[in-house]
Amino acid sequence: MGDGQGRRRVVASAVDVVEVVDEPVPGLEPGEALVKLSVSGVCGSDKAGVHGEHVFMKPPYYPGHEVVGVVEAVAEGVSGVRVCDRVTVEPTLPCGRCKPCLNKVENLCENLQFFGCGYREGGMADVFTVPAQRLYRFPQEFTDHEAALIEPLATPVHAVRLAGDLRGKAVAILGSGTIGLLTLLAARQAGARRVVSTDVLVKKRELALELGADAAVDASAPDLAGAVRGELGESGDVVFDCVANQKTLPEAIKIALKGGTVVVMGGARRPVTIDLPLVQEYQVRIQGATTYRREDFEEAARIIAASDFDASNFVTATFPLSRAKEAFSAINSGREVKILVAAD
Ligand SMILES: [Zn+2]
Ligand SMILES: [Zn+2]
Repeated sequence: MGDGQGRRRVVASAVDVVEVVDEPVPGLEPGEALVKLSVSGVCGSDKAGVHGEHVFMKPPYYPGHEVVGVVEAVAEGVSGVRVCDRVTVEPTLPCGRCKPCLNKVENLCENLQFFGCGYREGGMADVFTVPAQRLYRFPQEFTDHEAALIEPLATPVHAVRLAGDLRGKAVAILGSGTIGLLTLLAARQAGARRVVSTDVLVKKRELALELGADAAVDASAPDLAGAVRGELGESGDVVFDCVANQKTLPEAIKIALKGGTVVVMGGARRPVTIDLPLVQEYQVRIQGATTYRREDFEEAARIIAASDFDASNFVTATFPLSRAKEAFSAINSGREVKILVAAD
């Protein structure tokens, strides 16, 4: 595979249908690189996308935006990466010309395309093409599993940056899936004084404690906000809502009273009703957060390079590319943390 003849590629071809198809390898467009797959994560957004529940990513699409691979070829004139470099992909594909792009918030590009999310290429294929500018050459001593966590960690790193200075702050993190657990690492790294995590599953609460949460609250508690505030010993200066639904967001706001910040992450699926007078009178800041910029990839790589980072805490299942369908089924259980699809 990847011999310039044909490739297998994963396609989310219709709602709840994931297939592996054989097709020719596409030629390189100007500025592109051809990358051979090592591993690709399955994201929560893929789960929503395959079920037809994602706001903009609808089947058919080509998944794989948390991808690690090896550069096999580059188009003429491409510099910055070389053949045999191990790379990950910064999957946001901004236009470089619109107002957000010119204001250095290119993650909000008005013409944003997204590799692995509706774009003509995604990373779950024997080989794939990608604009070479969006390749990130991580420290080459990283394992593939470590490198596969750069993109998922860059999202929490960006959210923490948007939250403001966390040093000395009391922080709550709702949800301890991949994003919640990585937000815990990013918040700790940013100097949070006390961090309380939540989850409905005892196994994930245990993992949060192992990864440095001061307490982990059962998210099915009848008064979640009260339980979290109890463990914080005070209100939350910043609450990261990594679930972001009708149940969690009102609780997040209650934890942040008064004057705290609620950061909405984790791929909100539908509109939610909140107590607006409470938000106004108690000066709560509600901050959306999406994806990342190159500086967030760099910070994520620094956190992963730290000696106490253990990728095996996060990567809990791996499936060969030929069995990608099973990887998409496994994400439905909610029991796994990060699921990878690997070259076979
Ligand atoms: Zn993702
Ligand atoms: Zn733009």
